[in-house]
Amino acid sequence: MTASIPSPTSRPISGAEYRESLRRQRPTVYVDGHLIDSVADAPSLQPGINALAVTYDFALDPAKAPLMTATQTMRGVTVNRMLHINESAGDLLNKLEAVRLLCQETGCAQRYLAHDALNAIHQVSARIDDARGGGEHRARFAAYLADVQDRDLALGIAMTDAKGDRSLRPHRQPNPDAYLRIVERRAAGIVISGTKAIVTGAPYVHQFLVMPSRRMSAEDADFAVCCAVPVDAAGVTIVARPAGRPGEKPEHGAPLFSRRYGQSTGVVVFDRVFVPWERVFYAGEWEHSGALTHAYATHHRHSCIAARAGFGDLLIGAGALMCEANGFDPGRKASLREPMVELIKITEGFFACGVAASVYGTADPHSGGFMPEPVFANIGKLLLATQIYDMHRLAHEVSGGLIVALPGPDEDHNPATAATLADVLRANPAVPYDKRIEVARFIEDLTASYQGGWYSVISLHGGGSPAAMKQEIWRHYPVGSKVELVERLLDRGVLHDEQRSIARNRQPGRCCDAGCAAPGTAIMVPLPNAKGD
Ligand SMILES: Cc1cc2nc3c(=O)[nH]c(=O)nc-3n(C[C@H](O)[C@H](O)[C@H](O)COP(=O)(O)OP(=O)(O)OC[C@H]3O[C@@H](n4cnc5c(N)ncnc54)[C@H](O)[C@@H]3O)c2cc1C
Repeated sequence: MTASIPSPTSRPISGAEYRESLRRQRPTVYVDGHLIDSVADAPSLQPGINALAVTYDFALDPAKAPLMTATQTMRGVTVNRMLHINESAGDLLNKLEAVRLLCQETGCAQRYLAHDALNAIHQVSARIDDARGGGEHRARFAAYLADVQDRDLALGIAMTDAKGDRSLRPHRQPNPDAYLRIVERRAAGIVISGTKAIVTGAPYVHQFLVMPSRRMSAEDADFAVCCAVPVDAAGVTIVARPAGRPGEKPEHGAPLFSRRYGQSTGVVVFDRVFVPWERVFYAGEWEHSGALTHAYATHHRHSCIAARAGFGDLLIGAGALMCEANGFDPGRKASLREPMVELIKITEGFFACGVAASVYGTADPHSGGFMPEPVFANIGKLLLATQIYDMHRLAHEVSGGLIVALPGPDEDHNPATAATLADVLRANPAVPYDKRIEVARFIEDLTASYQGGWYSVISLHGGGSPAAMKQEIWRHYPVGSKVELVERLLDRGVLHDEQRSIARNRQPGRCCDAGCAAPGTAIMVPLPNAKGD
């Protein structure tokens, strides 16, 4: 673990303090073609700010604090779990439950990306030091981490480059700004330029963690850069989408979920941005880029599992309520119980991969930080990436067509039609009309709207496309051990050749001392309402 840095000031802050902190920075942000004067006050960004505020407020809620905060033992401080470096398999499990809880409340709370990036940079900093000797990278990251934890910062992850022509490596791109790179080295720091194409929460975070988006070669050394940049650093421009659906009829009807909570994504353009050395975690060490992207992807896919399980919880609850409002108890109607069970199977199925990835998590040999097991983490993410479309279908199946066919909220207040609609569109006599349409609009919002499409695409591509997950699964799965197993059963030892490619990957079994957390380390804190039970 990193050297101890005392911190008398460390204190998780509240959502209100987070909001207020946004007023102290002046980023250049455009949304829908307009320059935003004050991010904290921009209506188009409120759903995103609200979602991040939940990550702060939950950490101060005594009932949730055991899950939403963690003790960073190397510093002896309590920090928001979204900024915690994992020290055990239990930490991985608790992060999983914490992200699920946050996403049950907000749909997607976004801040877990910071956790994933901090853990990855912690690991790679130690790796670089171990390769070169010395402790410079460890120390620099430890100082940065202490600052982030003490000020309880929100971080945006600027990893995915614009990438230009996908068939060309970074140094071959006709437009060099397709990938972010070092354009100048100075005594005091580096100067970077280029474009990060998709940064969740970009307008309303405090800093960006800039990271390379792929394995680099020696010719791409200038593109192998990892550093922290304040959102309002000179030369940074954020071109963002609104968060959620803030503009839709706030004055009418039941509140839409995505009017309250949403996510903005931004294209972030870096134009000769100066970064002082104390915020540069590496610059040019291309041979470590693969390790960084692998570590980040593994942590992030593990977190995505929990995020989408929280979303699944919303669909399961809403689906059951819709059945009830329509006059059915799915427990008694097999035709509705079957799709409801399918929804549960999908959600808990990929979540179980997250649990397995935590339990089989291992300590990184360089940093000591705990890392989820990559095969289970990638399988869980791959399952949710493709099954998100089935989740939407199942929610639609149990709900009926009204979720997209209902007259709009304005009719709720139309004296000529409101009473008739309330009468004829009621189903279960025990469920008032307004309660039925509230659930129907909730399901529309989550599955059959712009926001519904957003949940599909974030699930499919967030954390990497399915091809990236499949590549990782194949790379880490011990196919060679399985080949060996069958060869032994078939008594084919004579032909055995360990060098042939199909037999090469022979990682140790998962029940060995080195592969598993030692008994007693996977200590989960009590989980109040983490699964809604
Ligand atoms: C809502 C949302 C939020 C996100 N938030 C963040 C964030 O906060 N920070 C961040 O850094 N990233 C973020 N991402 C980016 C995410 O990681 C990428 O979308 C993902 O890695 C895919 O990259 P891409 O979108 O550029 O697609 P592309 O790279 O264009 O891929 C499109 C398809 O082409 C295939 N392909 C691409 N290149 C090759 C190749 N060389 N050979 C063969 N096939 C190829 C891919 O497998 C895929 O099927 C977010 C994405 C979404 C959708």
